[in-house]
Amino acid sequence: MTLRHDEALERSRTITLRSVQVELDLSSADNLDIPTFGSRSRLEIDCHEPGAGTFLDLKAESLHEVRVNGVLVEQPDWDGNRLRLSDLAEHNIVEVTATMRFSSDGEGLHRHHAAGDGTYLYAMSFLDAAPRWFCTVDQPDQKARHSFDVQAPDGWIVRGNDTDKPLASYLVTLVAGPWVEITRGRLGLLARRGLSDELHRDAEDLFEVTNACLAAYEDLIGIPYAFGDYLQVFAPDFNAGAMENPGCVVLREQFLHRGQATQAQRASRAGTIAHELAHQWFGDLVTMRWWDDLWLNESFAEYLGHRICTEHTQYPLWADFGLRRKTWGLAADKGPNTHPVAGNGAEDTTAALANFDGISYAKGAAVLRQLAAWMGDQAFFAGLRHHISTHAHGNASRADLVDAWRAQGVDGLDNWLDAWLTTSGPDRIQVLDGPLRLERVGTPKPRPHALHVEVRTPQGSLRDERRAVAHDDLTPLDLRHEPGDLVLPDADDTAWASIRPLVVGGADLTSVAAHRLPTTPRAALLGLLHDALRDARVAPGALQDQLLAMAAVEPDATLLAAALDLAHACATVWSPPDVRPARGARLADAALHLLEGAEPKGDHHLLAQRAVIASTTHTDVLHGLLAGETPRPLGPEERWRAIQSLVALGEDARLVDDELARDPSSSGQLHALTARASAPASSVKRAALDRVLHDAQASAYQVSAIAAGIFLPGQYALVQPLAVEWFAGISQTSRLRQGWGLTGTVRAGFPHGVADEQVLDAARRTLADPEVHPTVRRTLADGFDDLVRQSVSWKVCGAS
Ligand SMILES: [Zn+2]
Repeated sequence: MTLRHDEALERSRTITLRSVQVELDLSSADNLDIPTFGSRSRLEIDCHEPGAGTFLDLKAESLHEVRVNGVLVEQPDWDGNRLRLSDLAEHNIVEVTATMRFSSDGEGLHRHHAAGDGTYLYAMSFLDAAPRWFCTVDQPDQKARHSFDVQAPDGWIVRGNDTDKPLASYLVTLVAGPWVEITRGRLGLLARRGLSDELHRDAEDLFEVTNACLAAYEDLIGIPYAFGDYLQVFAPDFNAGAMENPGCVVLREQFLHRGQATQAQRASRAGTIAHELAHQWFGDLVTMRWWDDLWLNESFAEYLGHRICTEHTQYPLWADFGLRRKTWGLAADKGPNTHPVAGNGAEDTTAALANFDGISYAKGAAVLRQLAAWMGDQAFFAGLRHHISTHAHGNASRADLVDAWRAQGVDGLDNWLDAWLTTSGPDRIQVLDGPLRLERVGTPKPRPHALHVEVRTPQGSLRDERRAVAHDDLTPLDLRHEPGDLVLPDADDTAWASIRPLVVGGADLTSVAAHRLPTTPRAALLGLLHDALRDARVAPGALQDQLLAMAAVEPDATLLAAALDLAHACATVWSPPDVRPARGARLADAALHLLEGAEPKGDHHLLAQRAVIASTTHTDVLHGLLAGETPRPLGPEERWRAIQSLVALGEDARLVDDELARDPSSSGQLHALTARASAPASSVKRAALDRVLHDAQASAYQVSAIAAGIFLPGQYALVQPLAVEWFAGISQTSRLRQGWGLTGTVRAGFPHGVADEQVLDAARRTLADPEVHPTVRRTLADGFDDLVRQSVSWKVCGAS
């Protein structure tokens, strides 16, 4: 059941939650036959209208006893979600004793068990899952002191938010299990025992990044970190990248890379660390009143995380932001569910969860980056310091932040914020030929775009450049240029727009890839080619050729990874099925060539290995890699991908058993599920689909792993009928799963690249059904937008 904004407002008019004391009996948590645990909550609640009633949030298995001010409530009014209280006094003690269920979907109190490793628990309260493990008033403006008394099996380590400061319920956590823990001063790192080697291997890097960013934030914001020790727990089966629980951040354990990782992967982890640290102020210390101000959390954490990590650690992140985060956000902003960055209209918690998307993160961050450049760092950060210090340990809204900036005396702030924060959809910025002009097409309101425009010769040297602010519909560009030159309107990759460059004289967009550009404009170019592919403005075959030519000489590993990924997308989902084998073979040949020329210890070698594994149809090549016929043996993750590729090509699925014997870890078990579902046999696919649509026992991770093996781009004829069935059956999975587990399993199983009319019709039928759960509908609508774009790409440019 979802909480509406008006209900939250009404409840806060009636009561204030002062403190929450929780007793948890987890003493049998390591016995998997016992699915539940005891939870007793003691809530201190002030009532502003004595005599009035309210409700608490409680999603328990069973309710045993409710006492209000010591008096037993004979027949508690509890519907499985809400516990209604009546006739409250001015000050109340409410005691609730209940039995809760361990979860397997990554929300509430999640239990993970791995043979030979042990049982581990972590609590994920976000977004509205706190009542799945204790009784509370679950809304972000009810910040209260929390304390926990936990009974756990002998030898377990139990950690959580170790603070007496008030916390919103969505930020309350607990982790328990036989963790490995490494501490350094106030910092701590925890992981499963099975990842002990990886944790020790990476601890120095993790501490260094954390210390550097923590010091940078304290300096920048001028308020010390407020929540005691700072633990980072690498947890199994975690749905999100990480969760910013004050003083006890939970991260997905895949960040402790098994085997080899690229510098870009370590940089991405450093960026996540910096992001969660930013939340300790933006979200944790000052919390939004309601979810419609989600951007006050995520846009700031995303912007500051990228900036602080780039400026204070060895991991620069802006290229990756342009290549992965901006492309994600731009797709969302052009999609059917676009919304403004601020004031996203979260009328209830279900709608709020749906808005944790590329707009709240990437677009918000890009807009803040533009804002900081527009008003200057000094005013930008002075406003933030004022805002955080004024509302520390409380709540605030957009209006409070705007007031803090206004107090800095910045002119034109309201118009700027109005144009960027309250309107949705990206503008299109394009360069028009003879005479050169910038054209802005988009929102009717003027929107200032600060752009760095460059003219590059066909050899890549700079012919001319200038800074321009495009807010009108046409902006003249006084720049020297010759036929064949490339005019790139966002050469420093800081804009938020669908960017259309120009090759003077009218050459095709793919020819721009031939220009030899410096790193930043080259990254910007890759980003806009991604955008062009999604719009069917460029033929996937021609684009793939250009990308492979770029990849062959690309010195930067982050850009190489992006070029290879985009080339893979061109060869698969964006191309019609009949041309996929030829395009896949071109990619495999190019990747093998890269592999032969790459230095074995470098990132290029690892990226080429991965690209070969993902694209080759030569089983002897895959067997050779698995047998170690390569200067650098495959790591466990790459081995599993090679096994999956072999099974998908029709090799005996007993390969999976052999690999599991070699790698029986939790990660290995999940890879085995994916590999088995990849076999090109109708019976296998059907059984896998059956589990995705009907298995209520499997964890969200297990379902996603199975789903990831079904709709493979090289098995079109086999999986096309199953895509129709998937659309017919997916809506009822909202009865089996909830929250992020539901979103994640729908997303993991989405039949990308299966985009013929019959499948599109099946999708349309499901989307037209009014009974479809809003969470499923939102995820389907986003995926459907991709499918329609793919079908257009097939028709418009499939032949070339
Ligand atoms: Zn965040």
